[in-house]
Order: sequence, then structure tokens, then C-alpha cells
Amino acid sequence: MSSKFKNKPCLACNILPICGGGCKQLAIENEGVDYCVYDFGESRKKQVVLDGFLKVMEEYEVGSDTAHLPTSPLA
Ligand code: SF4
Repeated sequence: MSSKFKNKPCLACNILPICGGGCKQLAIENEGVDYCVYDFGESRKKQVVLDGFLKVMEEYEVGSDTAHLPTSPLA
């Protein structure tokens, strides 16, 4: 578990609580090397946040008709 929290980019990443830094295997394979499961792509990270938000909206049926919600500027 500790190997996951040695990756410096993760420790400074805004979406660490959502992403978790990827799987433990990836952390072990990249020990000592900076890595990101999203290849350090800020737009990919924002998409993860947006997807998570929309999923929660759907789960609460607030977003059952999501046509009124703005589409991703990243799409
Ligand atoms: S998005 Fe990349 S940098 Fe951020 S926590 Fe996940 S693996 Fe780490």
C-alpha cells in the first residue's frame, strides 16, 4: 500500500481522492519513476471528475434527463 503514496505527482494531484493513484501493481512497476494513469493529461483528469459527477446525478435521478446539463467542454 505504501508504494502507491510514493509517487510525487499523485501527492500533488487534485483528483487523488477520486483516482487513488491507480492500482498497486502499477505503483510497484513504476517505483522510483513518476507516473500517471492518465498520462498527466489534465483534460482526461477533468473528464474523470465530470463523469463521476454525472454518475452521481443519475444515481439520485436528478440527472435522469441530463439533456439540460452542459456537455463536457473536453469532448
Ligand atoms: S490522476 Fe495521475 S497523478 Fe492524479 S492521482 Fe491519478 S495517477 Fe496520480
